[in-house]
Amino acid sequence: MKEFTIVGGGIAGASIAYHLAKKGQHVTVYDRFDQGQATFASAGIICPWTSQRRNKKWYRLVQEGARYYPAFIKDLEQTTNQPTGYKQNGAICLFKDDRIQQLAYERISAKQEASPEMGSVTKMAKKDVKALHPYLTDYYPAVFVEGGGQIDGESLLTSLKKGVLAHGGNWLVEDVDPRECQGTVIYTAGAWAGEFHDQPTIRHQRAELLHFQLDEDADAMGTPVVMGLGPMYIVGTGAGNSFAIGTTHEKTEEFSVAPSAENKAYLHHEAERYFPDVNIDDHKVSVGLRPFTRDSLPFIGYNDDNIFVVNGLGSTGLTAGPVIGREVAAFLSGEETTLNLADYGYYE
Ligand SMILES: Cc1cc2nc3c(=O)[nH]c(=O)nc-3n(C[C@H](O)[C@H](O)[C@H](O)COP(=O)(O)OP(=O)(O)OC[C@H]3O[C@@H](n4cnc5c(N)ncnc54)[C@H](O)[C@@H]3O)c2cc1C
Repeated sequence: MKEFTIVGGGIAGASIAYHLAKKGQHVTVYDRFDQGQATFASAGIICPWTSQRRNKKWYRLVQEGARYYPAFIKDLEQTTNQPTGYKQNGAICLFKDDRIQQLAYERISAKQEASPEMGSVTKMAKKDVKALHPYLTDYYPAVFVEGGGQIDGESLLTSLKKGVLAHGGNWLVEDVDPRECQGTVIYTAGAWAGEFHDQPTIRHQRAELLHFQLDEDADAMGTPVVMGLGPMYIVGTGAGNSFAIGTTHEKTEEFSVAPSAENKAYLHHEAERYFPDVNIDDHKVSVGLRPFTRDSLPFIGYNDDNIFVVNGLGSTGLTAGPVIGREVAAFLSGEETTLNLADYGYYE
């Protein structure tokens, strides 16, 4: 049994801790739960197949991440006897017009053979969208991806923490310096990584989500996630008619998580565009800090201080987080991995 100290308890640290503890390793997590923790703020969409990003290493990671989710959730829920909020109601992807819908349909369905877990991919005429999402606009044609899913970041972290403890690990709410920790040190500090090391360089984006309620009965948790135009998406967030729309993307060096009135007005306007026939009651704006590397590929490997760093999970960290945990735990336990982790252990 080896000793591991994990500094940072977002999805990266929590998932690695869970998988190591499951193998019987001795694990202690230190997390100070900064305001702006990305995992807590996340929208939790698991649908990597619709992205237009071409980076193959990134795609291998998120594809394997989405593939692993159902088995991972089953195992975690059995261990903790607690729901994680995972649901797989599919994803409705909206497009500006029929031509772009057709191109997107061809691009997405071409990935099906290599990713059968994405389920069926179907074109939807504008008039059919409301059958799946009653109050959503019928202004745009869509593609429906059956395997699209969503996880609640907060519930997932609660379950992972419980799972770590159930497998004999420790979880402490503490601010620590990774250079002063015992055993093999795994540094998963998200946006705050620059406090203790500068390789790889981690930058962050401030991302805001507007949480709102529709002034009509709606089954938010039963509806598919919606990938709107550009970077906009809509997810159900709770029982009844509660949804969230986002996000904004602001590169910043600041760590403030105070919501901005300007962004709130912009997101409210976007919500009205997607739900044109119902009143929208704003509830709150949540702010998270997404950690990025320079080329947006996660970093997984040792740094110059011989600390194992996992960071830069970017905008798909909840998708990749569980499989990163599985792979890093296998690698650090001297076992074979499914992914080639050397692909992610680069320096700029
Ligand atoms: C608004 C928003 C929406 C998103 N939507 C999606 C989505 O739909 N799908 C998807 O796949 N991904 C999404 N993401 C991305 C995903 O949430 C992130 O990539 C992921 O959560 C990053 O996890 P992390 O563990 O690296 O960092 P974090 O979750 O930020 O965790 C880092 C933790 O380390 C702690 N820490 C730092 N330094 C120390 C120290 N010295 N001592 C102790 N603790 C320390 C911090 O307090 C924090 O708790 C979204 C992100 C945001 C912000």
